[in-house]
Amino acid sequence: DRMNVAIDGPAGAGKSTVARKVAEQLGYIYIDTGAMYRAVTLAANRAGIASGDSEGLRTLVARLHIRLKQGEQGQIVLLDEEDVTEAIRTREVTLRVSEVASHEPVRIRLVELQRLLAAGKGIVMDGRDIGSHVLPDAELKIYLTASVGIRALRRFKELKHDGSITLEQLEQEIAERDESDEKREVSPLICAQDAVVIDSSELTIDQVVALIVDLSRT
Ligand code: C5P
Repeated sequence: DRMNVAIDGPAGAGKSTVARKVAEQLGYIYIDTGAMYRAVTLAANRAGIASGDSEGLRTLVARLHIRLKQGEQGQIVLLDEEDVTEAIRTREVTLRVSEVASHEPVRIRLVELQRLLAAGKGIVMDGRDIGSHVLPDAELKIYLTASVGIRALRRFKELKHDGSITLEQLEQEIAERDESDEKREVSPLICAQDAVVIDSSELTIDQVVALIVDLSRT
């Protein structure tokens, strides 16, 4: 039987790569909820909505259309039908997304959408509050983590080295984003009680994927 798999954890733990590969192996659909918060953040930046303007964000999310499409190279993110897959990965968006994601109207709207997407089962969804809040009935919940030093180093290696950011800065930014995701009032980053915790510090992506696929079959 098809199930839903929830993968949560802090920034840079490898959730999206792992979730995409698990979905591939199970023949499921991968849904990146962080991409949705990033799309709202991009729209907020473009609309000039200031930090802390909850009402502005409420109005914004009420009229936005966010859609995820499965492309050949992976998931495509559409914001009012514009392909923003690349645009949501800039540092500008990354630095603000956690603040935008802390506003209740934004979360209510996106969680609604996420639950709709998962209604048919057979999805792997990654985020911060999937097992604890969005899909409390998911058949398999994973909390994927790694030390902040390792997560920063992995991100650092992924970045194109234009010298604009140091490893120390990156580590600092990741730590700040974790703290703000853990401390927000509305559905913070938290390990669900019934989640299996996997620390990927000493594991390869493929080892983590194999572990999760095994768990889905037991
Ligand atoms: O997964 P990613 O790092 O792209 O997520 C970006 C940000 O979106 C997170 O730092 C968090 O603030 C927010 N987010 C969230 N809830 C989720 C997924 C992401 O608050 N389910």
